[in-house]
Amino acid sequence: MITDAHSVSTRHDGDPAREVPFGGNSLQHGTAVFEGIRCYDGAGGPSLFRLDDHLRRLRRSADLIGIAEPPPLAELRERVLAAVPDHLPDCYLRPVLYAPDPILGLDLRRLRFRLGIEVWPAAPVARHAGLSLTISPWRRPPAECLPAGAKATGAYVMSAVARTAAARAGFDDAVQLDLHTGRVVEASVSNVFLVSRGVLRTPWLTDGPLAGITRDTVLALATDLGIDAREGPVTTSELHEADEIFLTGTAIELMPVRALEGRRLDPSGPIFRALLARFDDAVSGLLQAPDGWLTRAPIPATR
Ligand code: PMP
Repeated sequence: MITDAHSVSTRHDGDPAREVPFGGNSLQHGTAVFEGIRCYDGAGGPSLFRLDDHLRRLRRSADLIGIAEPPPLAELRERVLAAVPDHLPDCYLRPVLYAPDPILGLDLRRLRFRLGIEVWPAAPVARHAGLSLTISPWRRPPAECLPAGAKATGAYVMSAVARTAAARAGFDDAVQLDLHTGRVVEASVSNVFLVSRGVLRTPWLTDGPLAGITRDTVLALATDLGIDAREGPVTTSELHEADEIFLTGTAIELMPVRALEGRRLDPSGPIFRALLARFDDAVSGLLQAPDGWLTRAPIPATR
């Protein structure tokens, strides 16, 4: 889990001292796209998990909001790998493609975008107690309003509003529903899974959740484990009747839910536990993982 600690290193085009102008377009309008990537101090040396998948999604986010010519994959890969600090093999990296210039125009094709990378130490995820969830009154806009695949900074105001309202009401996080269908989309910064009668389910991408890389990992690991895993429409009543619920995301990995709107759930259900064990093995290099899941960081091994 990402701690509240300040970031430990910032790289803007290789110049850590460079500041973002207050009038910068992305700061003023939320016109940046970003990724969150984990580096794990695993068995094969410090390695980034599904690096290229994250970078492909960054390029796609840029394309979806209209940023012309984002850096090629190879350049992004080189820059992110170079940003892993020698002393921090367990970290969370956030590459952000942003428009620094103090220009107020909103035609993104006319703006200059630059890559900055912020790094935070990663702390073990405190997951034994699980999270309490509510259903947010704040709905998610359909893809006709904002492409769901675009991980753009401005869109996170919607997550912040939902999360803040949930926290005020005494919950840890909120599930957001689709504006028109009222079906489950995702939580504020994570994908939602439920288990019902032994079947693992998650909202399909048609309903607008982010195509989470942890979500995809969990679906692949479930198949390996012989768990019946299905993507499809998920209603709130199905969520209310679930046997297990958990959230997934790069920062929180797999996080169990202990209560939904006050209804208690087991934060240590059998399917959650099986998937978490497999996930831990995958990120730490103990599992024969598919090609591209672990990319060795160019820093010294610690073990
Ligand atoms: N949904 C939202 C809105 C998110 O911000 C995130 C975090 N990136 C996720 C889902 C989970 O995606 P991932 O597993 O790729 O981190």
